Amino acid sequence: MTLPDGVDWPEFQPGWVWLVGAGPGDPGLLTLHAVNALRQADVIVHDALVDPRILAWARPDAELLFAGKRGGKPSPRQKDISLTLVELARRGLRVLRLKGGDPFVFGRGGEEGQTLVQHGVPLRVVPGITAGIGGLAYAGIPATHRDVNQSITFLTGHDQTGEAPGALDWDAIARGSQVIVMYMAMKHLDRIARRLIAAGRDPDEPVAIVTRATLPDQFVLETRLARAAEDARAAGVEPPAIVCVGRVVLLRQALEWAEGVAPRNLDPLGLGRPVEER
Ligand code: SAH
Repeated sequence: MTLPDGVDWPEFQPGWVWLVGAGPGDPGLLTLHAVNALRQADVIVHDALVDPRILAWARPDAELLFAGKRGGKPSPRQKDISLTLVELARRGLRVLRLKGGDPFVFGRGGEEGQTLVQHGVPLRVVPGITAGIGGLAYAGIPATHRDVNQSITFLTGHDQTGEAPGALDWDAIARGSQVIVMYMAMKHLDRIARRLIAAGRDPDEPVAIVTRATLPDQFVLETRLARAAEDARAAGVEPPAIVCVGRVVLLRQALEWAEGVAPRNLDPLGLGRPVEER
């Protein structure tokens, strides 16, 4: 695959680390900068969420290092991953740190970047399409829609201890967030949903859970806040999954495109007027 002409594609200098987002899964959602990086890197340090079809675009002689959870074993400590990047760069290699989605969105890219800077290793950052936006789009759910929301909240359902994040002000989120998009929320979904409802959120609010978004086996579960965790269990939903809480989920009835589900609902929000007049 050749990169388009007329652009000075950056040269990957030895001793540099590039922190690159690979998008949510579909290889077509890679950026051209990510492709440029894959074609030059000597070593690629990647997560479990990076699709094998993407890794297949590495140089044939590039070394692939896996840094993530495998088979239920604990993941390498963040410090060890960051220091591995430093060490590889110091050996004069072109080090590609490839992460699912966007490296700076719940991806610890900030922490890894800080360690690199601390050790004087030069870096470049290539953003990626984050699962909380791109993954929803593949389910036919727009992150924003003028008839629904003028804001959106992204949150993680885990904190560093693995618990439902204690640092979050759930009352404020329930009151102030028009649409809530949750990463890593399956484990505590039950608790999170109850917390939101206790803080005044409508138990009937539409929820979509999108697993393996953008991949051939993407699965979308549409449910309601009060029964989301139970429905997810019944459907056997497994991570990785994005959970979207809000009325934008209803737009899927009109906009779902990946599975070609018919018939379409031309007024999923029940506004009783054509979209052009809004
Ligand atoms: N940096 C990534 C997020 C990493 S955290 C990004 O920007 O997308 C890992 C979490 O991301 C998963 O637990 C899940 O909530 C979400 N995620 C990543 N890829 C996904 C996919 N293809 N489908 C659904 N959720 C995904």
